[in-house]
Amino acid sequence: MRVKPKKSLGQNFLIDNNIINLIVDCAEIKNKEILEIGPGTGNLTKQIIKKKPKKLFLIEKDYNLITNLKENLGDDIVYINDDILEVSEENISENKLTVFGNLPYNISTEILTKWILNLKTHFWFDKLVLMFQKEVAERIISKYNTHTYGRLSIISNWKLDIKKIIEIKPSSFNPKPKIDSTLLVFEPKKKYFKLQNANSIEKITRVFFNQRRKKIKKPFNKIFQNSSEIAKKLKINLDLRPQNLDLETYYLIASEFEKLRD
Ligand code: SAH
Repeated sequence: MRVKPKKSLGQNFLIDNNIINLIVDCAEIKNKEILEIGPGTGNLTKQIIKKKPKKLFLIEKDYNLITNLKENLGDDIVYINDDILEVSEENISENKLTVFGNLPYNISTEILTKWILNLKTHFWFDKLVLMFQKEVAERIISKYNTHTYGRLSIISNWKLDIKKIIEIKPSSFNPKPKIDSTLLVFEPKKKYFKLQNANSIEKITRVFFNQRRKKIKKPFNKIFQNSSEIAKKLKINLDLRPQNLDLETYYLIASEFEKLRD
């Protein structure tokens, strides 16, 4: 299929069969319901189909591409010509989905945080296999006390276990992107810190990492009137900087923040 890639839609198509095979091997496909986002010219899709999913949903924003896919891949597939950011993921299927996505990098990040923050009581997916810009993937998997640790690490690790699979060079794509990529796999955590509202973790991390080099005394005072009391209760040293607090501490702070509104 010959198409002129659209830069505006971040179209860099995978052409490296070793990488394509490695991606599809990241999850069980046979007899499962699969959602692929941004299938493009179908390079990944064709390998997914070979593994005989029970059902396959494709969400692609580009009308020409989805029309081509329809012509080439047949009627057994559910084609959705939409922007993944506009789709309500919970309504795609009644069953749990395994998601594959080699999307534009900015969309991958946006969709990941949207999905985590929108999760209700149950997970609508059992696995996410997603491609990121290498630097963003580093931020997602960073541990505390590193300079890449931040909002993205704290939000992503809240409900998901994350595994780094491989770094991928520009030469695996056509056209070649200017940056390296990293493939990550996410699975729902069996146990995660319960909060009433995902917005609290969003808000806390925003306030704390607004000035990531400054001491946390300032954001702490901003959020809590009785900040020294709360700091004592949570055993937090207010002379530390945002990157020095581990994940659990952020969830605890978010939990205290929720109590303010009760
Ligand atoms: N997965 C394919 C294509 C990667 S290029 C491959 O690996 O070869 C990224 C694809 O995402 C393109 O087909 C592009 O049209 C699509 N896309 C970009 N933004 C999107 C959005 N917001 N929602 C759905 N698809 C999108």
